[in-house]
Amino acid sequence: HAKRNGRNDFQFFNNEMNVWAVERQATEADLRKAIDRNEFVLHYQPKIDLASGQVTGAEALVRWLHPRRGVVFPDSFIPVAEDSGLIVAIGRIVLRGACQQAKTWLDQGLGSFVVSVNVSALEFRDKNFIRSTREALQETALDPCFLQIELTESVLMRNVDSSIPILHELKQLGVQLAVDDFGTGYSSLSYLSRLPIDVLKIDQSFVQRISSKSDDCIIASAVISMGASLRQRVIAEGVETQEQLNFLNTHRCNEGQGFLFSAPVPAEEFGRLIRECVVTPARPQ
Ligand code: C2E
Ligand code: MG
Ligand code: MG
Ligand code: MG
Repeated sequence: HAKRNGRNDFQFFNNEMNVWAVERQATEADLRKAIDRNEFVLHYQPKIDLASGQVTGAEALVRWLHPRRGVVFPDSFIPVAEDSGLIVAIGRIVLRGACQQAKTWLDQGLGSFVVSVNVSALEFRDKNFIRSTREALQETALDPCFLQIELTESVLMRNVDSSIPILHELKQLGVQLAVDDFGTGYSSLSYLSRLPIDVLKIDQSFVQRISSKSDDCIIASAVISMGASLRQRVIAEGVETQEQLNFLNTHRCNEGQGFLFSAPVPAEEFGRLIRECVVTPARPQ
């Protein structure tokens, strides 16, 4: 293609690169302001124990309330935040906010929810990560067992030998550990069994492929049985249909999370969902 159109294509490519670079710079500058002005808000998505129908936890998902662009979703700014190193500051805000919210819900007697936060590669490798996690817990007086850290499979496996000591330090703090987007990376099973992991989250791409007609559900069922053997809880992400839920129940998947139960919602609305028992999965017996 590039050869056929010669110079013109190259020119076009260059322009695209410039637009991208300019946008990226603008986002980075805006992100710096956003940190100072605290334009971030956390939404919470319930996780449901499939056997009991109880809400066991909530995943905190960050949104950026941009003064002009409105609500900006993480996929549009987390990569820039990672590249620029700003993710470390944002991560602290998220961790602190999630711990504060978990503590508030516990104090209100809403239930004993584990709140999970997503931690990206740069945050996880940051030398101050353990310390700022400990500080967030201490400052909010949250019992560490109510905090869960989600790390993607690729973050953990990229440099697995250096991940292991960090994971052990986190476990020593008393927090729970989950592997996010499981099945999309290249985990060596022998390594996986050596990591102090509490929860495996089946990536939503495998959950969404579940249908009665296809073989595509073999990954989902393989992860469920693997989790059972390794004594890890397994949670399915991105559950959208009753058919997917039926499959997960049949295969004794522990927990589910997805639009079928609830989209991520602001904290006040999460509280309302719990009080009014709106999150009720159908459980076929
Ligand atoms: P993730 O941790 O795998 O989160 C799941 C994503 O799937 C969320 O998107 C959630 O809103 C969405 N989702 C939930 N249920 C369904 C469903 O039934 N169907 C579909 N199609 N999607 C569903 P979101 O909030 O846009 O977040 C995207 C990713 O951004 C997250 O993936 C996570 O990797 C990252 N992220 C979110 N918040 C943070 C944060 O505070 N810090 C960092 N470092 N990363 C974050
Ligand atoms: Mg996650
Ligand atoms: Mg995920
Ligand atoms: Mg993801």
